[in-house]
Amino acid sequence: MIRILNYIGGEMVPAIDGGWLPNPEPATAQVFSEIPDSGPADVEKAWMAARQAFPSWSVTPLEDRFRILHRISEGIETRMEDLAMAESRDNGKPLWPARKVDIPRAASNFRFFATALLQFASESHEMPGEAINYTLRQPIGVVGCISPWNLPLYLFTWKIAPALAAGNTVVAKPSEITPLTAWMLAEICREAGLPPGVLNIIHGTGPRVGEAIVKHPGIKAISFTGGTATGARIAAVAAPVFKKLSLELGGKNPTLVFADADLEETLRTTVQSGFSNQGEICLCGSRLLIERSIYTSFRDAYVERVSRLRVGDPLDTETRVGALASEAHLQKVLSYVRLATKEGGTLLCGGQQVYPEGRCRDGWFMQPAVIEGLGPACRTNQEEIFGPVVTLQPFDTEEEAIALANGVRYGLATSVWTRDLKKAHRVAAALESGIVWVNCWLLRDLRTPFGGMKDSGVGREGGWEAMRFFTEPKNVCIRL
Ligand code: NAD
Repeated sequence: MIRILNYIGGEMVPAIDGGWLPNPEPATAQVFSEIPDSGPADVEKAWMAARQAFPSWSVTPLEDRFRILHRISEGIETRMEDLAMAESRDNGKPLWPARKVDIPRAASNFRFFATALLQFASESHEMPGEAINYTLRQPIGVVGCISPWNLPLYLFTWKIAPALAAGNTVVAKPSEITPLTAWMLAEICREAGLPPGVLNIIHGTGPRVGEAIVKHPGIKAISFTGGTATGARIAAVAAPVFKKLSLELGGKNPTLVFADADLEETLRTTVQSGFSNQGEICLCGSRLLIERSIYTSFRDAYVERVSRLRVGDPLDTETRVGALASEAHLQKVLSYVRLATKEGGTLLCGGQQVYPEGRCRDGWFMQPAVIEGLGPACRTNQEEIFGPVVTLQPFDTEEEAIALANGVRYGLATSVWTRDLKKAHRVAAALESGIVWVNCWLLRDLRTPFGGMKDSGVGREGGWEAMRFFTEPKNVCIRL
């Protein structure tokens, strides 16, 4: 049994009140580790360590800060295989994407923001003959970073790296469902020479630890990624005390397939965009909108490919769909498949629980589902399912496609498939979506603004957006 510990003031410690929570492996349903069941007292201790570390970290020369963050990136790369195994075991995702995507991206996050801090600059505004204004962008102080279970180390580091790069000290909480790689990151940070207290990692549940971080009066900003309902709760707690907030929330992302698209390429990528990581990526395209003239042929080819996706042991290199992250989540996703049929949808493939042979027979697996015949207003087409479930809807005109795409409370990411460049520009401009991909999906440049509109979030991450979020701008005006 692995005992995961909190990382506070440079030390690995259990929760102050000594409680533990079980952490099961989704592929086998067996508990393989325990996490500290931390609470407000642990958050207080972490905050004190972070507060003590702040004066020195905030004035650490940029070159030194760069070197430490860069060493963390190298430390992640050195432990790539261990981290990928841990991520796959903890989350249920196949090992190969953990190796290819999750852990390399965690290393890139640190490398990217290590170099960003060397380039970050602020503005100056001249009033000719009268005055000069310059903007100081100073670190905020102690900040809180809270992340979800779907891309555990990838999203945890996407927040922590810019927070540290900008000179803040951090109290961070990974999801209680996937704590393992955050614990391993603590060791890597120690080895990289990150001074004690600069990063503190606390394990435990959202309502106890997460909420204590959000409520803490000394934690001045919160960067959160997770569900929309949790985001609303965090905003309600943080707004009256005027905390700076970045909220990356849920999605119900549309994929628009026009008849003039490269259909082979579209098919290949839309199968990935629907079902990568078991459909548990906030950017997954869960509503496939297809121009009516190609609807039947595209649907049949799509369903044929989705039916062939191999579900099973995450360690098997042939596996394309691993286990869902928790039993509760599997039950939620299965309940949406039942709801879809009740709402009048037709299940074209999948949708049932899968019991693989061998070591994974008790794990939380399901066959990817494709559903058609549902109207845009039904719950299945409106609510985030966050699993391997995609619905199909036909459209006749560009205007109808845009209206369907925009007809949900979310606005995170959209993919548009067409060979017509003018149409691509028109549609991209009309979409209510923080991110639009044309003829691609999940192609990421870390300098670009990342985040959603409407109920998908507030604020943006990535590049200067993140560096600006984690600093306080102060204008200094000097009369000439
Ligand atoms: P969640 O909201 O349940 O939990 C996210 C984190 O918040 C966890 O660490 C959890 O412990 C913590 N938390 C829970 N309640 C809290 C509270 N009251 N106060 C403070 N913290 C609290 O989300 P999840 O189930 O872990 O993740 C899935 C969701 O995340 C999906 O909705 C998905 O779309 C979203 N997501 C969004 C993005 C994005 O970039 N927009 C990326 C990945 C996932």
